[in-house]
Amino acid sequence: MAETALSPLRHLPSVDRVLRQPDVLTIMEKHGRAETTRAVREALAALRDEVKPGTVFDDTTVVASVLAHLAAREQTRLKPLFNLTGTVLHTNLGRAVLAEEAIDAATAAMRDAVSLEFDLASGRRGERDDHVRALICELTGAEDATLVNNNAAAVLLVLNTLAQGKEAVVSRGELIEIGGAFRMPEIMARAGARLREVGTTNRTHPRDYADAMIPETGLILKVHTSNYRIEGFTAEVSARDLAKLARQRNVPFVNDLGSGTLVDLSRFGLRKEPTVREAVDEGADLITFSGDKLLGGPQAGFIVGRKDLIAAVNRNPMKRALRMDKMRLAACEATLKLYRDPDRLAQRLPTMRFLARSVDEIRQQAIRLASVLAENLGGSVVVDAAPCASQIGSGALPLDTIPSFGLVMRPAGGGRAVEALSAAFRSLPWPVIGRIAEGALVFDLRCLDDEGLFRENLASLRFEAAP
Ligand SMILES: *Cc1c(COP(=O)(O)O)cnc(C)c1O
Repeated sequence: MAETALSPLRHLPSVDRVLRQPDVLTIMEKHGRAETTRAVREALAALRDEVKPGTVFDDTTVVASVLAHLAAREQTRLKPLFNLTGTVLHTNLGRAVLAEEAIDAATAAMRDAVSLEFDLASGRRGERDDHVRALICELTGAEDATLVNNNAAAVLLVLNTLAQGKEAVVSRGELIEIGGAFRMPEIMARAGARLREVGTTNRTHPRDYADAMIPETGLILKVHTSNYRIEGFTAEVSARDLAKLARQRNVPFVNDLGSGTLVDLSRFGLRKEPTVREAVDEGADLITFSGDKLLGGPQAGFIVGRKDLIAAVNRNPMKRALRMDKMRLAACEATLKLYRDPDRLAQRLPTMRFLARSVDEIRQQAIRLASVLAENLGGSVVVDAAPCASQIGSGALPLDTIPSFGLVMRPAGGGRAVEALSAAFRSLPWPVIGRIAEGALVFDLRCLDDEGLFRENLASLRFEAAP
């Protein structure tokens, strides 16, 4: 049947006609022909879907819709946001926020050609690890070091290098899963190592390790139980004892520290996590740890320890697939340099700055912002400044919390209203991410650096409490 004169589609202009509109020509100068044409097609398709009989389209409606489509496509998906969850190193929110020094270094490395694998002194080919090797050794006391994509890659590479086709001996109490797909037994299988579990979930003794040693033993692995703690009737074998046993049996001892820190956290009022230097002193042959956990740098996996073993790791063809890029290498170097001056670490390294903030300072901020928020949200939301508890996150001191202060918001209308309020904050130009607890939306202010931006951002807040 032929289209009748009543068909509403007839009122929609053609793509060509829209593209000839003066406003659209201006848009095209900014977005380019291909992108603008695509947006016009999308806009027309959307309008066609919502068309009702008798609707008459004018060009203004169509142009507005084109603009809306372009704006939506331009939106950055990887958005900077306020992490007010109370978890300082939040894996889903990108873990460590980098120091300005690291940001500058990464930016410079992006902008120009760099001496990544080029030795400026000799004019010959260099090693990409050379830029940080000496620095890592200086800060950890290790003999040698290498860097890969992340700590999961570090563990995979070490297992594959030292234990492919052999056994890796691990305590049953340390067969960890660290969120997502990182499960120690599975990583081990992919690395080609056979898992030799020893001991029981809660207790492992020196003789368990000793009894497990056979000619096919590739290494002894100790894994820091980053995200849980076994308490009660427990026993584990110390790194020092494992190092001794490994030396006697002539197999390498590998210590996966997970977070691994370069400074004693007690200087920031936190409980002590094992430092990399201590792990070196305890006699581990290789130690692995992350760059973007407590260290406060970019995503990276550090492998430090014995020179001959690092050389073996670097000869493994997998190293090439797991290596670091120039941007993160530059950021790593700049971050590590900050550790040469531990006294100023809490000012210069955001992770330490957040962790070291005093409750009193955070409380003052909460009191200031509670009244600002109350004004913004109107009478339907009760806003209080109240104590709360932060955690480090990313598997450091899993059971420890740090006293903090925050904003507690209780909208009239209960659970649904809390969800709606949380969504309203998430849709701000700088999304604000808090946590929902006991029928309230809570913003832990420990990681709120830029109070000015936070206040400006609130101007866009739209929240109507349900009637
Ligand atoms: C976090 C962690 C890993 C994985 O490190 P990523 O840097 O996230 O790849 C491995 N082992 C332990 C013990 C960890 O805590």
